[in-house]
Amino acid sequence: MPGNIKNIVTAMDRPDIHLFRKLPKSDLHNHGMLGGKRSVIEKFQGKKFAPFKSEGQGITDLNNWIVNELRPFFQLPGSMEKAIEAAFIQARFDGVTRLEMSVDVLFSSVFNVPAGRIVGALKHAHETFAPDIDFIPELGFPRSKSLRTLLSGFDQFLDFNYFRSIDLYDDEFAQPVENFRELYRFARKLGLKCKAHAGEFGTAESVKKAVEVLELDAVQHGIGAAESPSVMKWLADNKIMLNICPESNIKLKRTRSYKTHPIRILYDHGVKVTVNTDDALVFGAGVSEQFLKLFNAGVFTLDELTVIRNNGL
Ligand SMILES: [Zn+2]
Repeated sequence: MPGNIKNIVTAMDRPDIHLFRKLPKSDLHNHGMLGGKRSVIEKFQGKKFAPFKSEGQGITDLNNWIVNELRPFFQLPGSMEKAIEAAFIQARFDGVTRLEMSVDVLFSSVFNVPAGRIVGALKHAHETFAPDIDFIPELGFPRSKSLRTLLSGFDQFLDFNYFRSIDLYDDEFAQPVENFRELYRFARKLGLKCKAHAGEFGTAESVKKAVEVLELDAVQHGIGAAESPSVMKWLADNKIMLNICPESNIKLKRTRSYKTHPIRILYDHGVKVTVNTDDALVFGAGVSEQFLKLFNAGVFTLDELTVIRNNGL
C-alpha cells in the first residue's frame, strides 16, 4: 500500500508538535515549583505572568524573575499544592512518561509547611493528574546555602523514605563543590541517585570535577564539557549522562540559538545526552517543543532524536 507508506514518510519528514507530544519521553531535569503549566497557574492567581527576559546575567536574571513574578503567586494559600499539580499537568500534556522532578529541600521552611504536606502534595498530584507517569521524586539542594542549613532541611524529609534522587543547583559558583562531598556520600548510602548542576555556565573541568568529587550518576546541564574533547571522552567512557535544557540555555543567553547549541558537539563525541525542561513555567517550552526546534534547526534527525529519547527512558 504505497499510499499509506507515503503518508507516513510525509508525516515523518515534517513532524509537528503533536507527533512529538505523542512519543514516550523523559524529563530528568525539572525543578517542580518552576515546572508548572503556565495557564494552570495563571488561572489560579487570576493574572498572567510577564514573559521571562534575560539581561545576560544568568541565574541572577532567573532569580529576579522568580521574585518579581512568582512571589505574589506563592503568597496565595494552596499555592504549593497548585504548583505541584501544574507540574504534573504540564508533564502529562508534554507526553512525559518518566519524570525526575525536584522539590527544594528548604521548601518546608520557605512555605512554612511541614515536610509531610509537601510529600503528600506530590503523592496526591501524581496519583490524581498523571498516574501513568513513572515518577522519581527528587530533593534539590541550593548551592548558595550552608551545608548545615541543607542538612537540617534534608533531615525533615528522611523519615518519609520517599525521595529517590538528589540534585545540587542554583548559582554553580556559590561555593566549592567539595563542600557537598559528605552530603552526597550520605545520600549515596541511602541509595539515592546523585545528580548536580555543573557546566551550565562553568567550564569543562568543573563538570569533570563535580562528577569526581560528588560521584555523580548524571549531570544537570554539563554543556561546558563541549569545550574539551578530553572531558567529553571521559564522560562518554564513564557513561555519565548530561540532562540538557536547550531552551533554558538559550533564554539565559548561555548560547545564542538551537543551531549553535553545544548539544550536537556533545552528541558527536559520544556523550549520552537527554533533552529536558529545567523550568517550563519560566522558559515556556516542554520537551516536545524542544525536540521540534532541534529538528527544525537541522541539529538532529528524527533517528538521532529517537536515540536521545531512549537515553532518558
Ligand atoms: Zn536546572
